[in-house]
Amino acid sequence: MKPNEMRRLALKLLEEADQEGSGPEELSLLVTAEQILIAADAFDEMAIVEIKPGTIIGERVGGDPADEAEHYQVCPACGQTVDMRDLDAVLHHEREGHEPLPSN
Ligand SMILES: [Zn+2]
Repeated sequence: MKPNEMRRLALKLLEEADQEGSGPEELSLLVTAEQILIAADAFDEMAIVEIKPGTIIGERVGGDPADEAEHYQVCPACGQTVDMRDLDAVLHHEREGHEPLPSN
């Protein structure tokens, strides 16, 4: 499995965790997703792969929501609004101690 496939899987798990509500199932999904993301980062570091923001756009599991606003979430760490379809942006906001991405 390639790092980008791993990240897609992790995002799928995060979405499942989001629908799960709080509890052991959610925690299990979050831990698994985190481990997959760590492994994907390790693969990238080995390959020295650089992913530019906006180059990998994810696809929502179960199709697009009725409201476009559902694609966006506010990052609890830095307060920036994140387009959850932008994989690089999502991964950036997963990193501990990150700064908001520069706005266009
Ligand atoms: Zn953030």
